[in-house]
Amino acid sequence: MRLLLILGALLMTDAAQAQQREWKLVIHGGAGVIERKNLSPEKDKEIRAALDHSLATGSKVLAGGGSALDAVEATVRELEDNPNFNAGRGAVFTYQGTNELDAAIMDGRTRAAGAVTGATATKNPISLARAVMEKSPHVFLSREGADEFSRQQGLEQAPPEWFATPERRRQLEELKSKSLSYFDVDLKYGTVGAVALDTQGHVAAATSTGGLTGKRWGRIGDSPIIGAGTYADDRACAISATGAGEYFIREGAAHEICARMRLAGESAQKAADVVMKEIGELGGTGGVIVVTPKGETVYSFNTPGMYRGMASAKGRSVAIYGDE
Ligand code: ASP
Repeated sequence: MRLLLILGALLMTDAAQAQQREWKLVIHGGAGVIERKNLSPEKDKEIRAALDHSLATGSKVLAGGGSALDAVEATVRELEDNPNFNAGRGAVFTYQGTNELDAAIMDGRTRAAGAVTGATATKNPISLARAVMEKSPHVFLSREGADEFSRQQGLEQAPPEWFATPERRRQLEELKSKSLSYFDVDLKYGTVGAVALDTQGHVAAATSTGGLTGKRWGRIGDSPIIGAGTYADDRACAISATGAGEYFIREGAAHEICARMRLAGESAQKAADVVMKEIGELGGTGGVIVVTPKGETVYSFNTPGMYRGMASAKGRSVAIYGDE
């Protein structure tokens, strides 16, 4: 009896502690040459409202005691549905004029992960990535196979017109007519990502993108590559990246940030800044968002701007330009 009482008291302390634990949510909506002179006041307002709304969605999950995994999925789904971002609806076009979607999700609690590349018909690619993680024996599915798995899982499908927007088509035409490089940063903003810490102390990460405007030959960026554009590990942190994917792949960026924290004892900010500096030295531009089980939240980017935001029980904030 006494043992039971002691056990009960211990459990209650745990529950009370869990309630007091803080939650955090950090998001990005792409990085690049985003400057006041390139963005109309209306677009600026629209983007801020969209970022804030998706933060509110994820915050609701976390404030209600939901998991970091559920929060990052819900947050990214909302950004995918918003045509302002290069993910889901509003994804950039391939050279052939199609939309090929990449997404990844990772649970820091178990280091379970799921990812897809070249998906063409799933309304919310991040949920397809989650289905790969939870319903398949694999981590990474591609193209027709990913589409087939999505149908088999009964995920919501969408026709090509759902993803295609006139503005992204115009960007593809501009890229072709001016023979611009794939890395021409003006034409590809809007990859989306979210990282979260839940009240149980677990972290998760999610990233979703259409990749680069005019991509061809089945090009795959960093976003769906576990360890490059997306990573989560309760022993260190959760990361989502955006930028010129080829450099993030070469750097092993997301895993490198976690490894520096875990093995070298660096703070999240230091690890992220070092990795972004190294990416810059390779010639790459972009940014990362990071959250740790201790509640550290970080932005690090080497571009003039990054669509971004963070939320906690204390409130929400969003920003676009580097000087905010
Ligand atoms: N990282 C993405 C890719 O390379 C693009 C981006 O974040 O803008 O596919």
